Amino acid sequence: MRAYIVSADALNLREQPSTEAAVLVRLVRGQAVARLDEVEWGAGWWRVFADTGGDMAFEGYCVARHLSSATAGSAPAPPAVSSAGPDPATIMLSRHFSLADLTISETAARRGIDNTPTGEVLENLKRTAGHLEDIQTRLGAIIAVSSAYRSPALNRVIGGSNSSDHTRGLAADFTCRAIGTPHEVCTRIEASGIGFDQLIHEFGRWVHIGFGPRMRRQSLTVFQGTGYKLGILTEAEARALS
Ligand SMILES: [Zn+2]
Repeated sequence: MRAYIVSADALNLREQPSTEAAVLVRLVRGQAVARLDEVEWGAGWWRVFADTGGDMAFEGYCVARHLSSATAGSAPAPPAVSSAGPDPATIMLSRHFSLADLTISETAARRGIDNTPTGEVLENLKRTAGHLEDIQTRLGAIIAVSSAYRSPALNRVIGGSNSSDHTRGLAADFTCRAIGTPHEVCTRIEASGIGFDQLIHEFGRWVHIGFGPRMRRQSLTVFQGTGYKLGILTEAEARALS
């Protein structure tokens, strides 16, 4: 195995050698990785191992041109400069979560809605990213955030609640395939000491977690047509209470 250093501000380590594949972890500049073999996996992809600390280590694929040899003393590449301002994918809110991770929205992209947070929301997103790091560490697995911040315009289009923690940058929806179903992930989080305001098992499809200032540690479940029920429940349990 040969050692390399990440020479870009951020570098995705993926499950497969393709930009379509799931991101296992986002590596940051200076992270050491080990190349696992001498094979070119597709054009310019290498299979590497990265120990990111906190009991977390990952094996996956990344684009080789963002790695420099750790022994040759080669200078890291200068940061990319874009005329459109900094790339949200390279602005890190915490060790593993970028601004892009917490502002991503297919709906916003499709409808041309600006989902850029400012000021107070940005500070909240940093707090949320910190909580998500805590969750990843406790679960010992990577979570995939599908939606965190929603601008007021985006929230209106989605039909979300006005008071939603998402509009303040204080909530995230995610899945964690390594742990299991959203029900299993919710159960693990509820049983852990992790602090939150609301933990919601939503439609059996994802985990919603909110970090509003009350931090009530309230657990809820909702399925189509059931309304919100107290506790982390299976669909059958939620329907039995409706
Ligand atoms: Zn949510």
